[in-house]
Amino acid sequence: MKKNNTRIRIAVQKSGRLTEHTMELLTRCGLIYSKGHDQLICYGENMPVDVILVRDDDIPSLVQENLCDLGIVGLNEVEETRLKLVELDTKEIFSQISTLDFGYCRLSFAIPEDQNYTGLSFLSGKRIATSYPQIVGHYLKNQGIKAEVIKFSGAVEIAPGLGKADMICDLVSSGSTLQANELRETDTILESRATLIQTPVLIPTGKQEWLQRLLQRIQGVLQVKESKYIMLHAPRSALPEISKLLPGSESPTIIPLEGRNDKVAVHAVCKEKIFWETLELLKEAGASSMLVLPVEKMLA
Ligand code: ATP
Ligand code: ZN
Repeated sequence: MKKNNTRIRIAVQKSGRLTEHTMELLTRCGLIYSKGHDQLICYGENMPVDVILVRDDDIPSLVQENLCDLGIVGLNEVEETRLKLVELDTKEIFSQISTLDFGYCRLSFAIPEDQNYTGLSFLSGKRIATSYPQIVGHYLKNQGIKAEVIKFSGAVEIAPGLGKADMICDLVSSGSTLQANELRETDTILESRATLIQTPVLIPTGKQEWLQRLLQRIQGVLQVKESKYIMLHAPRSALPEISKLLPGSESPTIIPLEGRNDKVAVHAVCKEKIFWETLELLKEAGASSMLVLPVEKMLA
């Protein structure tokens, strides 16, 4: 896999919880790709962007070592690698460019259900199994708690049952895995979601233009998901109040209505959700013929 100075390389999870959302994000950025024979690279056909498919744990290091320019990975993995790099006194560390809107989970302690949780002092002297020894170790140190951190690569939740640990610190979303293993969640130490990271090394000029375009498109895709286009009719006299009610909208477009001096059409992009309650308030303020439409693409 020879590195090319004009093509952007982005590392993503090959197969797992982040994969579908990540590929959907890249597709929404306009990327059309074909899979290589080895199924390890997706070659961009319409943009100089190649997608490298790897295990999520490897993504921060690939970006740190500048083998990939960008990476999309959970904050949990980002933080674990970052703390390790800090410990090693690494000067230049990859940058976190943007959080994305998927892969939500939290890193939490969990204890056997039959134990009585007494607050953070409960952790003292315990054996804690986790796949995130850096994050957990750092947390314990900050809290001034002495406990043993045991590194597990997977199936952390079975460690207490096996007698290998007293409790765990693991990723949780619904909590059903904990329940199935008779564990109870206590404190959360990290709220995580997918994150876009970038190499610490200066990106060559040959790639800069497309990199900026890609980053701008990713921001556009994120904004569009929440955004709506609203159209309504309103009496001119109600315009100040109606403008105030439009959520997350900058100056709306006002269009005259044929044959009506007292009424106008108002068009606006709202960068926040529009709830029924907002429409009801707009109606009370004098708005009528309201239409709320999804936004397909957006470029600032
Ligand atoms: P890989 O084979 O790539 O190493 P994995 O088993 O480590 O896969 P997944 O379970 O697919 O990883 O999770 C990938 C990421 O998804 C996690 O690192 C985390 O950021 C996020 N995630 C979201 N919800 C959860 C959850 N309930 N449990 C674990 N991870 C979650
Ligand atoms: Zn993993």
